[in-house]
Amino acid sequence: MLTTTLLDMCELNNLQPGKKITILGAGIAGLVAAYELERLGHQVDIIEGSPRVGGRVWTHRFGTENDAPYAELGAMRIPSSHHHTLHYVKELGLSDKLCKFMTVFEEQNAFINLEGKIFKIKDAPHILQQRYQGIFTDTRYSEQTRLFAAWLKTIVDTISPGDLREGLENDLKSHLMDELERLDLSPYFCEDNESIDLQSFIKQNPGFRARCSKALDMFFEDIIVETGKDLLQLQGGMEQIIDRLVDSIQSPIKCNQRVVAIRVNPEFTEIDYIENGEKHTRHCDYVLCTIPFSVLRKMELTGFDERKLNSIHNTYYCPATKVAFHTKEAFWQNKVFVVVLLLAVKVYVKHTILLLNSIPIAVV
Ligand SMILES: Cc1cc2nc3c(=O)[nH]c(=O)nc-3n(C[C@H](O)[C@H](O)[C@H](O)COP(=O)(O)OP(=O)(O)OC[C@H]3O[C@@H](n4cnc5c(N)ncnc54)[C@H](O)[C@@H]3O)c2cc1C
Repeated sequence: MLTTTLLDMCELNNLQPGKKITILGAGIAGLVAAYELERLGHQVDIIEGSPRVGGRVWTHRFGTENDAPYAELGAMRIPSSHHHTLHYVKELGLSDKLCKFMTVFEEQNAFINLEGKIFKIKDAPHILQQRYQGIFTDTRYSEQTRLFAAWLKTIVDTISPGDLREGLENDLKSHLMDELERLDLSPYFCEDNESIDLQSFIKQNPGFRARCSKALDMFFEDIIVETGKDLLQLQGGMEQIIDRLVDSIQSPIKCNQRVVAIRVNPEFTEIDYIENGEKHTRHCDYVLCTIPFSVLRKMELTGFDERKLNSIHNTYYCPATKVAFHTKEAFWQNKVFVVVLLLAVKVYVKHTILLLNSIPIAVV
């Protein structure tokens, strides 16, 4: 649904303005909620547990100058299908900062470590075919099927955790090679066979996904986003969205107040929070909670219905780690040096190399 349609519906249903609403968490969800609730005429205050606002949107700057290099420690890509995010980018006057986000598969100089040897990603499928025996050289399958399978392996090896890499190989061996052999793969090879259009392949072949293991199927769902050619980023850092939201709202934001209990009563909601080591209790007319479930489920929660508790306790969060290196020069732009990514979705921002998923980096 369009963001504007949703907001119109909220406005129509906003029959009693002037409520006092306490928002828990000053990440992007809490700040957008404050922004919209204020516009609807409510009185809002925000309680944030950490010393900073922004939550999982966090631009780290290597210096104080305006053009200091930076790395996104949290969100960095905006898929063009994320209409709500793009709505606020526009609303907050940041549209001119939107620019293309280059994925590792579009970057000609991206390297991958395959079993201790370093290759350009675009060469990896051919090399994989030579290095791996078994399915990648099995002449019962056409050359096209084998190359496509090698591409799948390269993509999965590049951006997925270890168990999935094994999962793909097992699935390929047991039945996915047969499935690929049945399909016409030629439309999905790009020029010079230097990449495949995995997005189109996944979208147009639901039967293939249906035959993948659950974990692999979920990975392919993600990969449609991860490898997309229509990803955007905000030149100057994602935190600009947070800064603009903070500037646009009147609501007080109280940092360093860590909520430890939420008790929902029919007439009001009570929260306990810790500030400077001391526990305080607050009565709130209304509470809008944006604290992640992974934190909420460790709190004392009373008065929540079963369905909510079930979601809070059973939603799985994938751990994510990023490592950013700051170098004196952008040496990888110099042909003498080669930057080796062992496993990465990466972005180069001036002098910063940013790696996802605890990926080690080496320079040879
Ligand atoms: C490494 C990484 C990369 C990502 N990359 C992308 C991407 O490229 N594109 C994309 O769209 N999304 C990405 N995401 C996801 C995106 O960052 C999140 O979906 C989004 O920022 C979540 O916002 P939120 O406000 O719901 O939660 P959060 O940002 O987590 O905000 C919750 C707030 O609650 C506060 N809080 C926590 N506990 C308490 C407490 N006890 N009391 C009071 N306050 C508390 C936190 O400090 C935080 O400020 C990424 C996330 C991570 C971690």
